[in-house]
Amino acid sequence: MQTFIYLDNSATTQPSEPVIQAVEHAMRESWFNPSALYKPSMETQKEVEAVRRTVLHAAGADNDSLVFTSCGTEADNLAVLGHLKTRRSSGRVLIFAGEHPAVSACTQAIERLGYTVETIAAGPDGCADLEQLEKQLDSTVAMIVIMQVNNESGAIQPLQEICAMRDRLAPSATIHVDGVQGFLRVPIQFHRLGIQSYALSGHKIHALKGIGALIFRKDHKIASIGYGGGQENGLRSGTENTVGILSLGAAVEHYPAHGAEWMMERKRQLWTGISNAIPEAKLNGPQLDSPACCPHILNVSLMPVRSQTMLFALEGDGIFVSAGSACASHKQKISPVLSSMGLSTQQADCALRFSLSPQTSEEDIDFTIERVRVHYQMLKAYTRR
Ligand code: PLP
Repeated sequence: MQTFIYLDNSATTQPSEPVIQAVEHAMRESWFNPSALYKPSMETQKEVEAVRRTVLHAAGADNDSLVFTSCGTEADNLAVLGHLKTRRSSGRVLIFAGEHPAVSACTQAIERLGYTVETIAAGPDGCADLEQLEKQLDSTVAMIVIMQVNNESGAIQPLQEICAMRDRLAPSATIHVDGVQGFLRVPIQFHRLGIQSYALSGHKIHALKGIGALIFRKDHKIASIGYGGGQENGLRSGTENTVGILSLGAAVEHYPAHGAEWMMERKRQLWTGISNAIPEAKLNGPQLDSPACCPHILNVSLMPVRSQTMLFALEGDGIFVSAGSACASHKQKISPVLSSMGLSTQQADCALRFSLSPQTSEEDIDFTIERVRVHYQMLKAYTRR
C-alpha cells in the first residue's frame, strides 16, 4: 500500500509490474552479451530485436530504424550532433525556446561544428510561434529541433504545421523531435509525419532509468558521437543494456490503452477543482479544450504563494509535485521555459507542475485539490506582496 500520492510523473515514473517482471527475467536469464555467438546470447539478441520492433511499431515507424541509447538526453544529443556532423557544416539550426537542456545545452557544440543557432519563439500558451517560424525558414536552414510535448507547460507542439512549412520553405532542412514527454501519451505517426528522427526515454513511461531510444528514417544520415566496439550498427558503442531494453519493451507493450484518456479526465478534474477553490489560480499552458493541451501535465501558478512553499506543504501531506521542471528545481532560478512564454517573474516563481500517470486515481486528485485549497488559504495570508 502506497502512503503517498505521486504527481511528478514527468520527472520519472514508477516501474510497472510487467516491467519489474521483465527486469527479473532479464537479470536471471537474458543477461548474456547479445553480440556473442553461443545460443543464450543469440536468444538475448532475439529479445532485443523484438523490443526494437515493438517500440518502432508503437511510434508508427515499422519500417524505420532505432538505436538504443542510455536515456532521452543521449538520444537527443545523437540526433542533433550526430546528424549535423554528416552535413556540410554551414547553415542555421533552429531550436525551439522551450527545449529541455538535453537539446538546448547542445548549442555550443553545434556552433563548434560550424552552424549558427537561432531560437524558435514560444507563444503565451507554450506552443511554437508559427508566424515567426515562417519568417525564419529558408534554404539556409539545416535543421529544426522541436519537442513533441513541453515538459513544463504540457504544450503539444504543432508538428504537422511545422513539417508542412519546412516542406514549402526549407525542403533540405531535417527535423528532430524530442518525444520524451510525448511518446505513448500523445499519438505520433513518425513515418507519416515526415520528421527525420524522434527521441524517447524509458523512465518516463514506467520502464527503468538508463534506457532511451532514437528512431530515425532509414535514409537519414547520423554519425556516431562516441567511440568503441561499434554496437548498434556503429551508432552507439557499448555493450547493450539488455535489462533496460527488455524493461522498455515491457513498458511499451503494457502501457494502458486508455491511459491518455484517463489522464485527461484526471487533469480536467484537477484544474476544475483548483480553479473553483482558488479563483486566483492561473493556468500556465494551453487551455484544456485546446488541441495543444496534453493529457498528463498541468502547470498552475497560485500567486502569491511561492511554488517551493506549496511544494513543501504538500509534501507534508504525502503529495509529491514539482516546481517547474525537476532538472531546474535545484538551480533556484526562474524557469527559462516559463519566461519564454512571457510569464512575470512572480507567476513563474509560483508555478507548480502536477504530472499524472495512468495510475493516478480520482481520490488522489480529490485529496490533492482539498490540500492545495487548505494550504493556499493559510499561506496566502503570510505572503508579503
Ligand atoms: N527531453 C525532455 C522533454 C525531458 O523532459 C527530459 C527529462 O525530463 C529529457 C529530454 C531527458 O530525458 P532523460 O532523463 O531520459 O535523459
